[in-house]
Amino acid sequence: MPINFNTNKYGDPRWVDSVLTGYTQDQYEIQKYATDLVSDTAEGSRPNITERHLEETFFFCMWMLRCIDESTLSSRFINEMRDYVVREAERERDPDAIEAMVQGIGLDAIRLKDTFSVYFVDFIRYSKKLTGNAYRLVFHPLSGGRVEVESKILVNLYRERFVESAFNFLGSISKPNALDAMTELGEFISSVKQDYLNRRKKEAVDLGSVDSSKFPPCISEYLKLMREGVNLPQMARFTLVSFLHKVGMSSTEVIALFRSAPDFNEKITTYQVNHITGQISGTVYSPPKCAVLLSNHICFKGEDPLCNQEWLKHPLRYYQIKKMRDIKNTPKASAEKK
Ligand code: SF4
Repeated sequence: MPINFNTNKYGDPRWVDSVLTGYTQDQYEIQKYATDLVSDTAEGSRPNITERHLEETFFFCMWMLRCIDESTLSSRFINEMRDYVVREAERERDPDAIEAMVQGIGLDAIRLKDTFSVYFVDFIRYSKKLTGNAYRLVFHPLSGGRVEVESKILVNLYRERFVESAFNFLGSISKPNALDAMTELGEFISSVKQDYLNRRKKEAVDLGSVDSSKFPPCISEYLKLMREGVNLPQMARFTLVSFLHKVGMSSTEVIALFRSAPDFNEKITTYQVNHITGQISGTVYSPPKCAVLLSNHICFKGEDPLCNQEWLKHPLRYYQIKKMRDIKNTPKASAEKK
């Protein structure tokens, strides 16, 4: 059964209470399954998600995560759940079931014959992070404000919508309400949180000889978002890896840094980093120019005076200038000038 966000009952603390205080086999299973999923995710293992009681367990986990209140942990859990529901959706062959699944999370899509018609606003909104021409509106005929897409494309829109709905749901729970509703699991929640924080501390990587105070705002923002548990768009990841490598971090250090990302996958990250840093391809890639980052909406220059110079065209240039200014301002350099 797919996860349906259209029902209000899961947002009500009385529902949480009914699961905690009920004595049926189902209620016991939901509690047990949810506590296992959350503690596995906090330990850094892959949670064993199964179909049984999936919807109730998912929402119960959301309440627990609201109590724990660690954004990277919440993101990691939501990503695991997202990957599970997407795998199920990809396996689904019945177009009616796919339609029910996407409508269940509030995506405006209607089954045609073998394809689906998506409201163009939803199409634009959920295709933003997806790359490829198949996700650009100009490559689709638009009729009556709707876009016709194949199920493969629809499933990827569903993926994005799922993440948005999950975060919206999580954000809609007030923390005091969550703590109150989950009093019975208070000890378990505190110990999961403590174990999780201890593990994060052990995994924390410092940037070594690299001077992060000289980073341009875009790079600082990517690092901040990653530490907060936000999944970076592909281009931002590429920029971050190529930038950090160019300013002196080794591939091993960069991989270790990505360990804190919510969707960290050792094998994929190692491959991508080694590719960008030239160990696989033989080509050492440079970060894109500012204009490219700006057109991809991942330039965060704000009011930064250096970024707002017309001649500043590249994030690496920013770092070099800041480093040079620093050298010039050292007491020795100032004394030599005199
Ligand atoms: S102007 Fe360039 S260096 Fe500055 S934040 Fe934007 S992309 Fe980064």
